[in-house]
Amino acid sequence: MNWFDEALHDEWSGQGYTQRFEVTRTICEVSTGHQKLVIFETPRFGRVLALDGVIQTTEADEFCYHEMLAHVPIFAHGKVRDALIVGGGDGGVLREVLRHDGIGSATLVEIDDTVINVCREHMPGLSDGAFDDPRCTTRIADGAAFVRDTDRRFDVIIVDSPDPIGPAEALFTPEFYADCRRCLRENGILVTQSGVPFLQPEELGSVHRSLGSVFSDATFYLTVVPTYVGGYMTLGWASDGSEPREIELEELAERVGRTGLSFKYYSPSIHRSAFALPPFIAGILEA
Ligand code: SAM
Repeated sequence: MNWFDEALHDEWSGQGYTQRFEVTRTICEVSTGHQKLVIFETPRFGRVLALDGVIQTTEADEFCYHEMLAHVPIFAHGKVRDALIVGGGDGGVLREVLRHDGIGSATLVEIDDTVINVCREHMPGLSDGAFDDPRCTTRIADGAAFVRDTDRRFDVIIVDSPDPIGPAEALFTPEFYADCRRCLRENGILVTQSGVPFLQPEELGSVHRSLGSVFSDATFYLTVVPTYVGGYMTLGWASDGSEPREIELEELAERVGRTGLSFKYYSPSIHRSAFALPPFIAGILEA
């Protein structure tokens, strides 16, 4: 029997903890010039994408992450026309963003085109045709350089990056967040993948300090993704003003109802309650 042991990065591997997947078939394995990419088949999670040994997404539980990263800011904002996705080369967030008819454009900036090409071929259900949507523009570039240099403006910026290792380190700095803020229109919202606090408290603390140094309303909301081991995952939330975050449940339910969209993880109540942080997580932010 073949197994894949997740190479949990430094601060994890020293904790004597990992997760293991039975591999029924290795679909593709390539060193892309940016990272080592593997897609493999498993009995329980379908196909799995790993980059540099770290689980990125699985067919079975990707919805728990992509729905929360996309719909919380879009429904909270209420009038998103132009969305920017940094990273997200598997296409899962792009698929969810483009389910909203009101979206006029979705720009995806991914540093590694091999991720896009390989996921389109071997995990097509993730993007589900989103890359061919006429509203989608794909740019192969460093997301940090893109937001530094672009004169484009967006209503929502979604940073769907790995943890701050390798090329993704540039997506966790105060400078990057300041450039994102400059690219956001009034009432714009930035959301960002920011790890599993039970195992990566340092990452959460650092993202909080960096976001807070740039935005007046910087906090986190929660999701649970079974294969992002360690319990809750925190998603960073940043905006200039707390109104979008404090939207009333009734208004939220109205907005969701109007779209006629259905979800497997997201709901108006989940949206609102996701911002309630357990003391052990809130404590990291206050440290
Ligand atoms: N959901 C995953 C997670 O939570 O770790 C992330 C999935 S997605 C595959 C992450 C993508 O970010 C990868 O395709 C990677 O190539 C891309 N990426 C890393 N650093 C980047 C950068 N500086 N600019 C743009 N994309 C980047």
